[in-house]
Amino acid sequence: MIPYGRQSLDQADIDAVVAVLHSDWLTQGPTLERFEQAMALRCQADHAVAVCNATAALHIACVAAGLGSGDRLWTTPNTFLASANCGRYCGAQVDFVDIDPLTWNIDADALATKLEEAERDGTLPKVLVAVAFSGQSCDMRRIGQLSERYGFTVIEDASHAVGASYAGRPVGCGEFADMTVFSFHPVKIITSAEGGMVLTNRPELAQRLQRLRSHGMTRDAGQMTEPSHGPWYYQQVELGFNYRMTDLQAALGLSQLNKLDGFIARRRELAARYHRLLGGLPLTLPGSQPEAESAWHLYVVRLQLDGIALSHLQVFEGLRAAGIGVNLHYIPVHLQPYYRDQGFATGDFPQAERYYSEAISLPMFPSLSDEQQDYVVEQLRRLLEE
Ligand SMILES: *Cc1c(COP(=O)(O)O)cnc(C)c1O
Repeated sequence: MIPYGRQSLDQADIDAVVAVLHSDWLTQGPTLERFEQAMALRCQADHAVAVCNATAALHIACVAAGLGSGDRLWTTPNTFLASANCGRYCGAQVDFVDIDPLTWNIDADALATKLEEAERDGTLPKVLVAVAFSGQSCDMRRIGQLSERYGFTVIEDASHAVGASYAGRPVGCGEFADMTVFSFHPVKIITSAEGGMVLTNRPELAQRLQRLRSHGMTRDAGQMTEPSHGPWYYQQVELGFNYRMTDLQAALGLSQLNKLDGFIARRRELAARYHRLLGGLPLTLPGSQPEAESAWHLYVVRLQLDGIALSHLQVFEGLRAAGIGVNLHYIPVHLQPYYRDQGFATGDFPQAERYYSEAISLPMFPSLSDEQQDYVVEQLRRLLEE
């Protein structure tokens, strides 16, 4: 089976992890600091805080933004559960804004309209989680303007977008978001097995994030309420978590970061090939957001069902039967039983729901060969013409 995504590891990655196993530090230590510094440099951000996964990163980013019960977090329904759940961890109410029918990212016009209404009703959000779906940034200029106008914090969920850029600058640079979250899960752009990171240019947020990932503890005299009792002394100044990343994971992430340019180049090549090879078929191909250069975590096509004899499910199953591990990103989050229990229903976000009835994620990963890609295209063409 050709998977939809997979990691690319080499001997250098393996050697980097083994070297940490021979060292004095296994958990959060010097390699983690090097990984954070390398990511901050690469993304042109002032601060990077690594944690055990992007879900934890989203959680502490929300805490650092001051999100609590009685507050609201808004995000897109076309995302992984974690982009919404982080709000619920803080006891906040979660709401969604429908997607743009071209980019499949949050629709900035719909966001502006919903904010106007929320201002009238006194229900403005404290946090917006803007998800760079498939590796392509949202309309971050517009979102930035709206955040200034309405005073919400922008957390960019760039789990798909390590190595992407927007407006000529790397995603994570902090020009268009207060905090940017990356995931290093194996299907994402680079991996640390499990891992996540928050990038920010705001020192007070960075300090808070560092504390929150380790029990709310500090050893910094400047953050303490009384003078140190001695060299052993630490204080817990707020409620935090154990969300630390290990040095083993950081070594893998750092080694993978060396190969990021090559990974992105190959993903862009594959995307351009799909565009070319799939043109003319009854499909809607990914539309581009002005100023965004995608990292191409996913390559999604939408079936134009009017022009196809088979159903969405039949095309999906036909591809699986042909040994192609297609997938579907995403089931609209508001239709999950947990969110239905929060009051959402079918019909609430029609663009995301229509998208869900048509979308298929095709294989997309750096080691996918041209021949394998040709086979995917051939099988898809066969099913569409059946
Ligand atoms: C993968 C993913 C996450 C969660 O990442 P983990 O590192 O697995 O916790 C969050 N948001 C989006 C959009 C993702 O794709």
